[in-house]
Amino acid sequence: MAEFTMELNDEQKGVRDWLHGFAADVIRPAAAEWDEREETPWPVIQEAAKVGIYSLDFYAQQYFDSTGLGIPMAMEELFWGDAGIALSIVGTGLAAVGVLANGTEEQIGTWIPQMYGDVNDVKVAAFCSSEPDAGSDVASIRTRAVYDEAKDEWVINGTKTWATNGGIADVHVVVASVDPELGSKGHASFIVPPATPGLSQGQKFKKHGIRASHTAEVVLDNVRVPGSCLLGGKEKLDERLARARERARKGSVKNAAMATFEASRPAVGAMAVGTARAAYEVALDYAKTREQFGRPIIDNQGVAFQLADMRTRIDAARLLVWRASWMAVNGKPFTAAEGSMSKLFASETAKKVTAQAIQILGGNGYTREYPVERMHRDAAIYTIFEGTSEIQRLVISRTISGMPIR
Ligand SMILES: Cc1cc2nc3c(=O)[nH]c(=O)nc-3n(C[C@H](O)[C@H](O)[C@H](O)COP(=O)(O)OP(=O)(O)OC[C@H]3O[C@@H](n4cnc5c(N)ncnc54)[C@H](O)[C@@H]3O)c2cc1C
Repeated sequence: MAEFTMELNDEQKGVRDWLHGFAADVIRPAAAEWDEREETPWPVIQEAAKVGIYSLDFYAQQYFDSTGLGIPMAMEELFWGDAGIALSIVGTGLAAVGVLANGTEEQIGTWIPQMYGDVNDVKVAAFCSSEPDAGSDVASIRTRAVYDEAKDEWVINGTKTWATNGGIADVHVVVASVDPELGSKGHASFIVPPATPGLSQGQKFKKHGIRASHTAEVVLDNVRVPGSCLLGGKEKLDERLARARERARKGSVKNAAMATFEASRPAVGAMAVGTARAAYEVALDYAKTREQFGRPIIDNQGVAFQLADMRTRIDAARLLVWRASWMAVNGKPFTAAEGSMSKLFASETAKKVTAQAIQILGGNGYTREYPVERMHRDAAIYTIFEGTSEIQRLVISRTISGMPIR
């Protein structure tokens, strides 16, 4: 186990500075344009592919960093540049993690490279779990996958919604129910390969923030995929279903999915830290240079103390994110739902800090001449996706109390 330290090592510092340079020189200058266009910033993704940031190798290197800090550090820097563009760059990674976590070695080797495409022809991937009637309540998804034994194919029907990169992705990872009676224990994930008949994009959503990131419905109408597209394989699924049926028969409700969420949520917390830090830096600069009543506005404690609180919250959020990421990589049990805790605190921090930044910039803060209003719109997503703040509180309170709090 790595010795405890609060410092990044030299290699991590090098990666961080390189990412920061890309975020400052390529992402940030493009942010306002793609926010207005509300389109996927393909040229920026391509630029990221050219320098090696948009690639399986880069993502895998950060993912397998033995300190656990590779992913949170990368997320913070990219989202510091701009949340919408950064989500377009890392969205594929979120789908890839679904395959890494559940796929066989062969599936990982076959599908993850296809998710990224190559430098001259970049592709994106989508992870489709949420449905119109199943957001927080993931157990109630209605998308159904039925096995056609004669052809060794799965037939998938349903409608997914709010899918990042949904419909524009080459590879879609789709969560479907294979046994509705088992609730979330009867779910399985499937790869839907490029150009599979029956998969189409439904409505593309116009959004409040992260507008450079594509969010859409995905309609699955008699989509047929080969048996080899079931992540983890049929044998493993059958064993898992048999165990779940046995537990259901005995009335046991152990939740096995929790550890996975606890390990992935800090990454979203790190995105929120990036947005919060970006807004705080703009506000700090502005407060030192904007003069009213013959002196910089930071000379007023009312302004300076806000900045002190902003910075304190951001640093606290980062520490929670790093702790949970370190716990995940070292296999520590999340006995107080520390992953959810980090996501809750960081996302609420981003919303609060970006609102304070607008206030410090006054009229300028409210206009699109300055980036903080965009950052505030972007920050609102963090308390919603990957589990809302209320769901994080539910998970934390159930974990610390052991009670079935509703
Ligand atoms: C921009 C964007 C991108 C997204 N990307 C993806 C993606 O790539 N893939 C994907 O699968 N999904 C994605 N999502 C979906 C996202 O994960 C869901 O929106 C989220 O889980 C919340 O579900 P919901 O919207 O149905 O809200 P609901 O579950 O309907 O919740 C509505 C409100 O009720 C509260 N609430 C619900 N249940 C409880 C409870 N038990 N106790 C207290 N309060 C409760 C919630 O906290 C919330 O405030 C995305 C969403 C957005 C907006």
